[in-house]
Amino acid sequence: MTGGTVHIVGAGLAGLAAAMRLVGSGREIIVHDIARHAGGRCRSYFEPALGLTVDNGNHLLLSANDNALAFLRTIGSEEKLAGPKEAEFAFADLASGECWLLHPNNGRIPWWILSKSRRVPGTRAVDYLSLIRLLHPKRDQSLGKVIECTGALYERLWRPLFLAALNTDPQEASALLAGAVLHETLARGGRACRPLVASEGLGATFIDPALAYLGRKGTRFCFNHQLRGLEVADEKVRALDFGEDVVKLAPNDAVILAVPASVACLILPGVATPTTFRAIVNAHFKLEPPKAFPRILGIINGTPEWLFAFPDRLSATISAADRWIEAPREVLARKVWDDVAKLIGAEGDMPPWHIIKERRATFAALPEENAKRPPAPTQWPNLFLAGDWTATGLPATIEGAIRSGNTAANLVLTADSRQSRVVNGSGGRQHRQ
Ligand SMILES: Cc1cc2nc3c(=O)[nH]c(=O)nc-3n(C[C@H](O)[C@H](O)[C@H](O)COP(=O)(O)OP(=O)(O)OC[C@H]3O[C@@H](n4cnc5c(N)ncnc54)[C@H](O)[C@@H]3O)c2cc1C
Repeated sequence: MTGGTVHIVGAGLAGLAAAMRLVGSGREIIVHDIARHAGGRCRSYFEPALGLTVDNGNHLLLSANDNALAFLRTIGSEEKLAGPKEAEFAFADLASGECWLLHPNNGRIPWWILSKSRRVPGTRAVDYLSLIRLLHPKRDQSLGKVIECTGALYERLWRPLFLAALNTDPQEASALLAGAVLHETLARGGRACRPLVASEGLGATFIDPALAYLGRKGTRFCFNHQLRGLEVADEKVRALDFGEDVVKLAPNDAVILAVPASVACLILPGVATPTTFRAIVNAHFKLEPPKAFPRILGIINGTPEWLFAFPDRLSATISAADRWIEAPREVLARKVWDDVAKLIGAEGDMPPWHIIKERRATFAALPEENAKRPPAPTQWPNLFLAGDWTATGLPATIEGAIRSGNTAANLVLTADSRQSRVVNGSGGRQHRQ
């Protein structure tokens, strides 16, 4: 496949990551997207009701997200992630009025669970041992079968943590995916758990600099370009059907399909994909946060679970929010504002607000949905899959999306080097035939 064109369909983080890995490899890179813009489920836009640029949803990263941080380093954006120097998470319990700071120590030995001032109030060090069971779960187990899903430690730590990471009620969520989150974060020590936020917005941090970087490297973008189907013959993908135009593939061209699962299953009917999804609702309120308000606050016993403070707004997140999808926006805004007002001590009218409902924010991280995730290679040697829903081993996250793009691009490059070995006469049987 050396020297051909790589068509990347989908300009979300998976597609952009694949393009970034492939530029400079001697291939032409063309990125197609149905939308007028890049970013997919990780984007910013101007919201006239607020007169502000907001994100489609609050996104939390952790310092453990190695692929995401490398992506940002490449595009010169790493400094745009803001967060504390150490792993610190502020929490407030709306039912009891308690506030605390969870503060895991930097190293791998978790002595923080022995410290009353660092662990969750109302818990004992011994309670945390139950998590050891999560380090080696069975493939088809739900989290509820592995750890006790009641009590202070669950309600005040494991529930908000796993709900945020899996976007699925933790009791029914895949223990395997919860275990993967644990392996990559707390098991690596507090150093891997610093919370990081794109304080200037997702567009300014991830998307715009990635587009600028790729543009400088000669990547072409075709927006408003909806892939409708693939033409397959002789066990290879031969053409991409975009409706009004059909792109014929040369013998050494390759395709990376980086669209959401709900689209991939229509384009590739024979390929298994997750089919159940979970929503996320975000409520933005236009007001300056109080001085010294934490950048991220975990909320226990509230409607939202997390509150993010930006210089010009407070933004609350409800994960696994399917129960709220049909609720009128104003009702939802008032319900969330009631909690936010209590937390910041606000009185008076609700400030200008904006509700964003993402119906299919992520695939449902259930054991049976996780089992459906396909790997990046397909039965067609010139077609590879990418996206947070492919078999990354992680839940649907920025880290998983970028990892999947890197994997698909690596497969294209591996196919390249195999091909050039064949061309150079070192390819063995295949070449001699
Ligand atoms: C509200 C919300 C909050 C989130 N919070 C977090 C968080 O806190 N931390 C975290 O790590 N992750 C979070 N995520 C998950 C993260 O945003 C996603 O995992 C990631 O953005 C997925 O990237 P992707 O490239 O796999 O898919 P997408 O972003 O969905 O990209 C797919 C692209 O394909 C395009 N496309 C679709 N159909 C076609 C077609 N037929 N032809 C051409 N193009 C097509 C789409 O327009 C899109 O640009 C959140 C997601 C949401 C929605």
